[in-house]
Amino acid sequence: MAGDDAVCSPPASASQAVTPPHPHTIAVHAGRPPHEPGEALSVPPVLASTFVSGGEINYGRDDNPSWRAFEEAVGDLEGGTAVAYASGMAAVAAVFDTVPVGERIVAPQKDAYSGTRELLRDLHDRGRIVWVPVDIADTAAVLEALEGAALLWIETPTNPLLRIADLTALLDGARRAGVAAAVDNTFATPLLQRPLERGADYVVHSATKLLSGHSDVVIGVAVTPSREAAEPLIEARTLRGPVAGALDAFLALRGLRTLGVRLERAQDNAAELARRLDADERVAAVHYPGLTSHPGHERAAAHMDGFGTMLSFEVETADAADAVCEALQVIVPATSLGGVETTIERRAKYAGDAHVAPGLLRVSVGIENVEDLWRDLDAALRR
Ligand SMILES: *Cc1c(COP(=O)(O)O)cnc(C)c1O
Repeated sequence: MAGDDAVCSPPASASQAVTPPHPHTIAVHAGRPPHEPGEALSVPPVLASTFVSGGEINYGRDDNPSWRAFEEAVGDLEGGTAVAYASGMAAVAAVFDTVPVGERIVAPQKDAYSGTRELLRDLHDRGRIVWVPVDIADTAAVLEALEGAALLWIETPTNPLLRIADLTALLDGARRAGVAAAVDNTFATPLLQRPLERGADYVVHSATKLLSGHSDVVIGVAVTPSREAAEPLIEARTLRGPVAGALDAFLALRGLRTLGVRLERAQDNAAELARRLDADERVAAVHYPGLTSHPGHERAAAHMDGFGTMLSFEVETADAADAVCEALQVIVPATSLGGVETTIERRAKYAGDAHVAPGLLRVSVGIENVEDLWRDLDAALRR
C-alpha cells in the first residue's frame, strides 16, 4: 500500500512505527469512498458509458469508478497497482501482449490453467510469440530455459495437481536473467501469497474465482508493482477494450470484502477433507500441499501463509470417479472453483488435462459445514 491510497493511513506526525493493517482488514476497508457524513460506505455500480466533460473520467472504456474501487482493493492486497479486465483470460492475454513479436515466453507445459496453455499454443502457432514449455516445479530446468526469454509465466499452486513452484528461486532467477516474471495467483490469493513482494513484475487473477467468491461473476485483474508499470496495460486495455462491467466490478469487490473469513473456513475444510481422504483406503492418492507427504509441502510452507482451498484426489477408474460425482448430494459437480460452495470435477475428461489420472477428481472446497461435506463424500465413495 503506497502513499495516498493507503487504507487507515497513519497521521502524518506519527513518529513511532505503525503496524500495517492485516490483509483481512485491507480486504474489508480498501477501495471505499472517503468517509463523509451521509455518503454511502461503498462505491455503487456506476452504470455509465458517458461522463460529463471536464472531470477525471470521460468515457466508459477508459475508466469507471466501480473498477477503481475494485482495483484499489486488489492493488492494496497485492502491494501494487491493479488493472481490471473482462475476465481472467483477458488479464492473461494482456500480460502476454506486453511481449514483443517473436520473443519467448517460458511457461508451464502442463501445470497451468488450460485456457492459458491454449492461448500460448495459439500465439505460438500464429508466430506471435515462441512458447518454451517447461515443468514449472523443476526449478533448474526453468532457470536454464530463461536465457534470452522475454517473459516467465508461473502458476502456483498448479491446477489440478496442486504442484508448487519454488517462487523465490524462479523470481530471483528471472531478475538475474533480465526476464520479466508473471504469476497467476488465482489459487493462492494475496492472502496466502504476494508474488510482487518477491520480485514478480505482474500478478494476474481470475477474480471470477476466490476473490469474488460467489460463482456469479466473470472478471479478471492484473497487478503491477507500480502505477508507472500499469500504464502500458491501461493504455492497451483502452485500445483493445476487454473492460470489466461496472456491475461485475461491484460484485467482485462485494465478494472480496469477505475473502478473509471465506478463505479461512474453506482452507480449514480443505485441510480436514484432505486428511480424511488421505487416511481412506478407497482413495488411491490425495494432492493437497498441506499434507506433509505432498512433494511441494515444504515449498508451500516457505512461500505461502496457508495451503489453500483446492485439493484433488484419485479413485481407481474414470467410471468410479464419475460415479462419485453422480452420488454426491451436497457437493456440486461443476467446473470453475473458488466459490462458497464446494464443487467437484473429473479433470481428465478435458483434452487439456488428459495427462492427469483418469480417476482424478479436483475439489474446490467451500465454506459449508465440514461434517456435511465429509458425510457426502464418504457416502459417495461407499457406492
Ligand atoms: C479460471 C482461471 C483462469 C481464467 O479466468 P477466467 O476468469 O475464467 O477468464 C486463469 N487462471 C486460473 C488459475 C484459473 O483458475
